[in-house]
Amino acid sequence: MKHVFEYFTNVKFNNRYVDPAFLASYLVERYPDNVVEVGNSLEGRPIYKFSIGTGKTKVLAWSQMHGNESTATLAMLDLLESLRNDTVREERLWRAVSLDFIFMLNPDGSARWTRRNAAGIDINRDFLMAATPEMQILKRIVADGNYDYALNLHDQRTIFTTDGHSPATLSFLAPSQDAERTLTPRRKQSMAVIANAWLQLKDALPKRIGRYTDEFYPTATGDNLMLRGLTNILVEGGHSPDDYHRVQTRRYYTMALYHLLVSMGLLHGRDYGYENYFDIPENRSKHVDLIYRNVKLNTDFPCVVDVAVQYREELEEGADEISFVPIVTEVGDLGAKKGWKEVDCTGLRFVSEKTYPKIDAPVNFRIE
Ligand SMILES: [Zn+2]
Repeated sequence: MKHVFEYFTNVKFNNRYVDPAFLASYLVERYPDNVVEVGNSLEGRPIYKFSIGTGKTKVLAWSQMHGNESTATLAMLDLLESLRNDTVREERLWRAVSLDFIFMLNPDGSARWTRRNAAGIDINRDFLMAATPEMQILKRIVADGNYDYALNLHDQRTIFTTDGHSPATLSFLAPSQDAERTLTPRRKQSMAVIANAWLQLKDALPKRIGRYTDEFYPTATGDNLMLRGLTNILVEGGHSPDDYHRVQTRRYYTMALYHLLVSMGLLHGRDYGYENYFDIPENRSKHVDLIYRNVKLNTDFPCVVDVAVQYREELEEGADEISFVPIVTEVGDLGAKKGWKEVDCTGLRFVSEKTYPKIDAPVNFRIE
């Protein structure tokens, strides 16, 4: 067995934007024996469950419950590709684990690159009401499946760091079951899986793995599944330096999926090593994408400010990849904030038809 996990990417999927129809046809053609249609989205797009493995540890996972969070979809495709190139590892994993993976639970949102479904509902907050066909499908599969674990797979914004300097490229959470965040047996099981995977990942990604806030969300999927007996883990793919297309993040997300599944197979419900979970740094959010420092505005009195800019991801009509629109998010003294990129504008000119940058609007100035 090779010592380190060797990563291969699926070259059919090079963009962050994944077209639901293309993904569907790829899965049906490439994996006809593994894929079944499990229902339709609000707008009638098919939703697919991919099943693999014969192990006694039964795992359910789903990606793109939020349509504009595609890294887990891509990482799962890459995991299959990586394992294809390492059959020893592949056989060992699928002998221990049986995985049902719902690719793109929210194909309508995915088609438009929006978080919510076609009715504007956040599926991750729809567990109790189950007003969306997508959540109804997920709940039915959970009820029928007798799973040991679930993986709730997401992306997080670029704002999170682990230590105030390094980006939180991956974040994990063992969700709470109550407002007191009690360490229940199920939370310990979840923490143990995360901690074991983290020990395998942390040297490859030093200071870039965080743990997400364990505040209890009464309507959230993970919290409610914990309450109802399904041990689950939230995974968030985040920022890597100069990597807005998340090519690096996708690689680490693939490794994370692999190590989480291996840990589930090894632990099979035991909470061995859960204490190490608390050694993972908590996510902090101090960063924005870009800060212009010391910008002298075109006022008739002396006025020097910092300007924070965050990139908004958009899918233009007919495009096959997302684009990034710089949006002004704050103006003033941003001494307490950091930018992944910072530009010192001392001695430079603020060129704009306006006197001030407009908040929550695309950047309306140039710096020269
Ligand atoms: Zn999400």
